[in-house]
Amino acid sequence: MIVNNSIDEIKKRENALLIIKDWILNKSRDSLYDLTGLSGGFIADSSEIDLLETYVGPAIFEDELQKVGIEHMGGQKVLPVNRTSSGILATILALVGENTNVVHYLAKLPAHPSIPRSCELVKANYSETDDFEKFEIPENTSLVVVTGSTMDHDVIDLDIFKKVISMAHEKSIPVMVDDASGARLRTVVFNQPKACDLGADIAITSTDKLMPGPRGGLMAGKKDLIDTIKVKVNQFGLEAQPPLVLAMMNGIKNFDKSNLVESFSRRNELFDLLSVNFRNFKLTPTGVMITPEGLNDELDLTHNLSDDDVAFVFSFLLLKEHGIITIPPVSMPGASATIRFDLSTNDAFGLDLGVLNKKIISSFNNLKELVNDEDKCREIIFNF
Ligand SMILES: *Cc1c(COP(=O)(O)O)cnc(C)c1O
Repeated sequence: MIVNNSIDEIKKRENALLIIKDWILNKSRDSLYDLTGLSGGFIADSSEIDLLETYVGPAIFEDELQKVGIEHMGGQKVLPVNRTSSGILATILALVGENTNVVHYLAKLPAHPSIPRSCELVKANYSETDDFEKFEIPENTSLVVVTGSTMDHDVIDLDIFKKVISMAHEKSIPVMVDDASGARLRTVVFNQPKACDLGADIAITSTDKLMPGPRGGLMAGKKDLIDTIKVKVNQFGLEAQPPLVLAMMNGIKNFDKSNLVESFSRRNELFDLLSVNFRNFKLTPTGVMITPEGLNDELDLTHNLSDDDVAFVFSFLLLKEHGIITIPPVSMPGASATIRFDLSTNDAFGLDLGVLNKKIISSFNNLKELVNDEDKCREIIFNF
């Protein structure tokens, strides 16, 4: 095993960021292709930037974000936080007591790690399932969690979504929806209602997923719950700072549904090209992906690497050889090692899919040469 624990994951991320920096300094930003689907945009004009003072900034932008955010998310009030994970943590700190149950339904396991980790912190009993037949809400449950769209973009079935919410509300238990990408994916591509309009008490989205905003979290929901959570957010410094609030607001204003819709059609073209050489690519709503297991299966070789390690080596090769950024090299600890090629953000718009296909094949052939040399693989991931 090469990437063994959270420390290793931080090291591989640091190396990936250095590779990206070198690429930009020695080549250009234009020749890099960020296909993560997380664009991290920062749209702001200079008159807005001049207002970014500690108290003036929030006075101006937080009020405007209320309007824009409620339009995007529904609900009675929004609360900007540092990351989606921060919002999840604050909600659990605020609503979940020791020894109470938290149950989570999602279309496909696993859940985002911030949910079980936050439950562990407050010593709650956490369980998750992707089988609705097995989903139940036991006595002494303090929070029901629903994921709208998973890290790998598996979208929840709308009927099940409604049923989970009504099961929770029958018992007067609040529902938190992790709608990190779902707030856009579900609504735009799958025509589902906003989570708050479906009755969710709290919904949270990531403002850099499938929209031109910065990494940050935007929570929306019932006013009294948001206020309770806001206390925890402020107590633990989880709130979004003025620059983030400004860019979130502009990111939402500049969110263009047609980019998502267009990527929905281009993904088929890429999928067909890749399927000539590979069996295990799958369509996602806005691109294609291959799981670590699927990638390993393509190799058809015996070697000592774990599936995740194979995915890390491959994604680092794509980055080093072609400037293609996917999530695994740059992700935070615990994220999925699935490699997604997302066509919904800026860098993908001008990309020739035939050329992308050739680059993927070329790095895959190099991966084949490398998997038996564990030291080399380690060097590619960590640079030592
Ligand atoms: C990305 C994601 C998160 C976490 O977002 P961060 O900005 O990394 O905190 C949580 N849940 C799901 C389903 C996600 O896809």
